Amino acid sequence: VIGTSMSVFDLLESEVRSYCRSWPTVFDHARGSRLWSEERRRYLDFFAGAGSLNYGHSNPVLKRALLSYLERDGIVNGLDMATTAKRDFLTAFQDLVLGPRGLPYKVMFPGPTGTDAVEAALKLARKVKGREPVVSFTNAFHGMSLGSLAVTGNAFKRAGAGVPLVHGTPMPFDRYLDGRVPDFLWLERLLEDSGSGLDHPAAVIVETVQGEGGVNVAGPGWLRALADLCARHDMLLIVDDVQMGCGRTGPFFSFEDAGITPDIVTLSKSVSGYGLPMALTLFSPELDRWEPGEHNGTFRGNNAAFVTATAALHTYWADDELERRTVRLGNRVEERLSAMTREHHGLSHRGRGLVRGIEFEDPARAAAVCARAFERGLLVETSGPTGQVVKLLPPLTVRDAELDEGLDIIDRAVLATP
Ligand code: PMP
Repeated sequence: VIGTSMSVFDLLESEVRSYCRSWPTVFDHARGSRLWSEERRRYLDFFAGAGSLNYGHSNPVLKRALLSYLERDGIVNGLDMATTAKRDFLTAFQDLVLGPRGLPYKVMFPGPTGTDAVEAALKLARKVKGREPVVSFTNAFHGMSLGSLAVTGNAFKRAGAGVPLVHGTPMPFDRYLDGRVPDFLWLERLLEDSGSGLDHPAAVIVETVQGEGGVNVAGPGWLRALADLCARHDMLLIVDDVQMGCGRTGPFFSFEDAGITPDIVTLSKSVSGYGLPMALTLFSPELDRWEPGEHNGTFRGNNAAFVTATAALHTYWADDELERRTVRLGNRVEERLSAMTREHHGLSHRGRGLVRGIEFEDPARAAAVCARAFERGLLVETSGPTGQVVKLLPPLTVRDAELDEGLDIIDRAVLATP
């Protein structure tokens, strides 16, 4: 009964499970951009662990580093103790990421997940500023805890738990507003409206590209205007780079192109590189007002993740080859999607680097395209408030031929779903 059937999952696993509904098969192993089911069917992965496998599944260099660390009984759970694995990671992060970019951040290990990184960012901003509200944007996604949900612009995800938005702005996170600074004027007015009793926000939290929200891209001018607004109104700028960091859009940090330096940055997902849980909250040194132990947690020191993260930095961030490749492959996807949207009615596309969205007028069509793609051996998921956007998130290490293969499958799936 168990074996290849899904029944044990249906019987035992909570209704909250979701990806096994999108992809009804039992997966067994994975390498690079491919997964295999226990029935030995092969799938191409354009989902990449929701962005946590930028360097592919079972990356051989990272695997070797991990295995040799485990072989020598390297510490696995180090809480926040000083360990050689943590020191090696911090050194590599300084030498290969922060130093070359002139970013002066302090590094905090807030817990294993992206949600933890966001939670710590919100707590720190509120503590430093001594104010509670945080501005977030329409369709934002920042996590599943009560705190991170409170800045998540998704009513469905908040509703059951009764979490109100802390200070959501009805301002559309609009990819088309690039450089049109006056669009911020109304927010500025709101901030200056002391007479109405608005609590002045401590911070603004933003994704440079909304991943879950439907691949909504903020232009560099928009981001600069936002950073400027934060500076003028004494609010901290938090960039949530959990999904778009670690090279997804090209550069290591997704905000680099815009030339801004956020006060606080969150990273997780691909930071360990091997799919192991790891998260970082980065902040300007003058914000380091934590008391020892004020934010702790058992799994802040996943040393196995430090080892693979260090190997990933040395392998992919010692030069700009991966960044250039991501931009090149992103342009190739853009060309293919432009052709696709010219050929088929009712869709448009957008994105940066290797995060791309195909928006359908009809969300049911987007879901059907994903289902057809799965039948043809490709994993892709929908995103956006009504699930109207098919999101393409291949590993950055995807081979050129695999990228074409996946795009061919999508092309055929769209054609078969008028
Ligand atoms: N922030 C962003 C931008 C995300 O995309 C996600 C996850 N999709 C999170 C936070 C939460 O990360 P996690 O699922 O690891 O808690």
